[in-house]
Amino acid sequence: MATDTNAGGNVTYECMRCGTPVTVEELSRLPEIKCICGFRVFRKARPPIVKQLKAI
Ligand SMILES: [Zn+2]
Repeated sequence: MATDTNAGGNVTYECMRCGTPVTVEELSRLPEIKCICGFRVFRKARPPIVKQLKAI
């Protein structure tokens, strides 16, 4: 009965220009939110395998 979910702690973003994936953790380390290509617009990317189960 052990479930190991990491909900909310693994959000990934993608650069809108080059599509480079970057995690929130990486972004938080940067002085400003900016891709390696210099673009500053990201969109939220969903991890390919994520199933959200409602736990009461
Ligand atoms: Zn980029």
